[in-house]
Amino acid sequence: MEKTVKTKLTAVFGYPLRHTLSPLLHNAFYEQHNINAVMLAFANPDIKKLIEAMRTLPIYLAAVTIPHKQTIMPYLDEVDAAARVIGAVNTVINREGRLVGYNTDVIGIVGALAGVNLKDKKVLILGAGGVARAAAYHLKNAGAKLFCWNRSLGAAQSLMRELGGEVAPALEMLGQAIDIIVNATPVGMYPKTDESPFPFELIQKHQVILDLIYNPAETRLLSDARRAGATVINGIKMFVAQALAQEALWLRIENGAAKYESLLVDYQRK
Ligand code: NAP
Repeated sequence: MEKTVKTKLTAVFGYPLRHTLSPLLHNAFYEQHNINAVMLAFANPDIKKLIEAMRTLPIYLAAVTIPHKQTIMPYLDEVDAAARVIGAVNTVINREGRLVGYNTDVIGIVGALAGVNLKDKKVLILGAGGVARAAAYHLKNAGAKLFCWNRSLGAAQSLMRELGGEVAPALEMLGQAIDIIVNATPVGMYPKTDESPFPFELIQKHQVILDLIYNPAETRLLSDARRAGATVINGIKMFVAQALAQEALWLRIENGAAKYESLLVDYQRK
């Protein structure tokens, strides 16, 4: 669609924002749906400056990423209840000057795990950062039994204390008991694509492995899991679901995710 005086600005906020695919996805969405909007990336280490820009320009929707998901919260006029429990905001909607924060990462995780039975399943979350918190929030609500392993023990302890679950001992000690593994660490992400957060030898055929990394689409962890005969789910499903949920919050529309998933996979292959 032609850009005009009526074109609305949306943004991705983060720092340094080298590998974000948000503009690619959101702009494809605008084209597809004839929405007169454009998303641009604004990399700034100072969240106050980004908030000021959002109010001034104005920016109608901001997708918020590392390192601002927590630090943005005090500057918002309102924070949705789930985002408050999770302790992170990845979406800000500008409603006539009022900035309202949401967490659509949790909707992304719901999308990624759609069709997987979570009730009473033992789920191991690797990592205890912002996305691990969103994952724990959904998994707990869905009736799963949580285990968390994290490089820094303290963060895993706080997360499990707050949301209910056990800190996992050394990974080798978990044995075959785990049904689902969720990687919420950046281990295996581009450019260090030969790394994996979980040893191949410990992967079981009956397990479902969800890697929240979306670049690359097939991480080392997922190719190991495939080799071990486990069920694999990549982070693109989550990425697309959380991005569509952002647009749905802004525009109050719904959409199917499949075409955007293939767009991102094709883009990463180039
Ligand atoms: P975050 O808040 O910075 O948390 C990162 C977590 O990973 C922390 O628990 C950290 O442990 C751990 N970690 C970092 N580097 C590590 C390493 N080298 N070895 C072991 N553990 C390490 O980040 P986040 O927002 O939760 O994002 C985590 C990952 O999720 C991202 O890198 C991205 O790949 C993925 N993600 C996916 C989507 C999607 O839509 N698919 C959306 C957002 C994020 P410490 O506590 O010890 O520092």
